[in-house]
Amino acid sequence: MDNLELLVNFHKDAKRQGPGSAETTLKALKLTQLNLENNLTIADIGCGTGAQTLVLAKNTKGIITAIDLFPEFLDKLKLNAKAYGFDNQINCVRQSMENLDFQHSNFDLIWSEGAIYIIGFEKGIKAWSKFLKKDGYLAVTEISWITNSRPKVIEDYWNNAYPEIDTITNKVNQLKTNGFSSVLYFVLPEHCWLDNYYHPMQERFSSFLKKYNHSKDVQELVNAEKEEVKMYNTYKSYYS
Ligand code: SAH
Repeated sequence: MDNLELLVNFHKDAKRQGPGSAETTLKALKLTQLNLENNLTIADIGCGTGAQTLVLAKNTKGIITAIDLFPEFLDKLKLNAKAYGFDNQINCVRQSMENLDFQHSNFDLIWSEGAIYIIGFEKGIKAWSKFLKKDGYLAVTEISWITNSRPKVIEDYWNNAYPEIDTITNKVNQLKTNGFSSVLYFVLPEHCWLDNYYHPMQERFSSFLKKYNHSKDVQELVNAEKEEVKMYNTYKSYYS
C-alpha cells in the first residue's frame, strides 16, 4: 500500500480531514453577501468526507458540487448526505483540483477548507477564480502566520512542510492582486484544531498501528502526525 493510500485510510474514518467547525463554516458563509435563499451554485473543493459540505447544504438552498480526488472520501460523503436528507443538494464528483473541468463563470461560491494548500494557495486562487461568476465568492482556509515574527523551530517546520505559509497580510494581498475585492478573514479558534481535528486523530493512532501490524510506513505516518500535533500545541499562538 502506498503512502497516499495509507493517508486516505487513516483519515477516511474521521469526521473531518482538517481543522474547522460548523460554526466557522457558517460564520464564513454569512460573511459573503450572497442571498442564501437563492438557488446558489456552489463548489466544495477537496471536500473530504464532507463535514463542511453538510453545513453548506443545511444553510443554503444551493446545489453543491463536492469535489475530491479520492472515492473513499466521496463514498462517505454520499452516505452522510443521504442520511441527513441532503442527497438532492449534494453532487459528488471525482476530479483533481489541479485540473477542474467546469464551465467558466459557473459558480456563485467556491468553498475549500483545509485543501487549497495541496495545489498551493496562489496557484489555487488563480486557477479557480475563472470558475466563479462575476460577483462570486471564494472561501478558503489557509494555514497562515498570525504574528509578525516567530521562533525559528516553527518557522523551519512549516516552511519545510508548506513553503507557501505566510502572514495573513500577504495572503490578503495575493487575493487582491488576483482580482478579489473586499477580502475578509478570521482566525480559526483552537477548538477547531484540537477538539475537531487533532484529538479525534490521536484517538485513531493505536488502532491504526494495530491494523497494519505496526508496519514501518504506518509508524512513520503516525509519527509525522504526532509531530504536527506537538508543534501545534507548542506554537499555536503563532499560526492558524
Ligand atoms: N475539506 C475537508 C477535507 C480537507 S483534507 C475537511 O476540511 O474536513 C484535503 C482533501 O483534499 C482530502 O479529502 C483529499 O482527498 C483532497 N485532495 C487531495 N488532493 C486532491 C486533488 N488533487 N484534487 C482534489 N482533492 C484532493
